[in-house]
Amino acid sequence: MPATVDALLPLSLLESVRGADTPEDTEAEYVHELRNKRLGLSDTVYAEIQRYTDDAKKNRRVGNEKALAIAKLIGRRPDAETVFRSAGRRLAGEMYDSISGTRRGLVRFLPAFIARPLALSGARRVARRYLNGSLSRIGGYIMLSVGESATANTAPRGIGCTFYEANLGELLRLLVDGGGAIEHVRCMDRDEGSCEWRAEWR
Ligand SMILES: [Zn+2]
Repeated sequence: MPATVDALLPLSLLESVRGADTPEDTEAEYVHELRNKRLGLSDTVYAEIQRYTDDAKKNRRVGNEKALAIAKLIGRRPDAETVFRSAGRRLAGEMYDSISGTRRGLVRFLPAFIARPLALSGARRVARRYLNGSLSRIGGYIMLSVGESATANTAPRGIGCTFYEANLGELLRLLVDGGGAIEHVRCMDRDEGSCEWRAEWR
């Protein structure tokens, strides 16, 4: 069965493009002109944003290849890494918000030895739902594994993968105010079959 992701994943990519292409105040008077020159301000991106917003509201999943097509457009831009990272953080915010308020509150107030497993099981669920990825703990590390990446091989030097790296970092920061260095230990860009990240889990 083809891999699917939450509609919020492609939406995060599109909104990040739009954010990057939205002019500063000084340029505002040229917006009309820019609309034809900047992808993020184009009618196509606007229409796609509407469509995925609608899909997200109705909890409809989207084929991974749709997200991949958007990622390829981003991968050609000189600011690809900035756009990927901001999209990853944006999606992490949505993932965090979808974890129940009770659980988020408990994670914040309970002692770490109880809070951490609660945080992990919440993170595991949202990683599966939104990223089609799996999270596991190995010793003092959290591993995120994504079998069918939406962003691998879309930009040179593994830049597409910064989407997931930024996502994992932001999710851990929001959940437990933690997560140290993240290492990309396995990568489809290097023909290693899947992408995997390792984050410190202290
Ligand atoms: Zn990778």
